[in-house]
Amino acid sequence: MSPEAWISIFLFGLLGGVGLLALLREFQARRIQSGPAQDRVFRCASCSAVYTDDPAVERSRCPQCGVTNEPFDF
Ligand SMILES: [Zn+2]
Repeated sequence: MSPEAWISIFLFGLLGGVGLLALLREFQARRIQSGPAQDRVFRCASCSAVYTDDPAVERSRCPQCGVTNEPFDF
């Protein structure tokens, strides 16, 4: 095989690798963006502070005053 062919194969592979990396980053960025939106919103009944917590938890403690609150629905 000629050196030119090897160079073109190398460049093609490099381009494909960079493209794949960009695609993976796009997927990761989307996962990060959709992450906080799925968090459950809580509103403290005592000090009315709005905060988010894990969606798996039923009740969450207020970071401001420590009162346990129910999930807040919009
Ligand atoms: Zn509070």
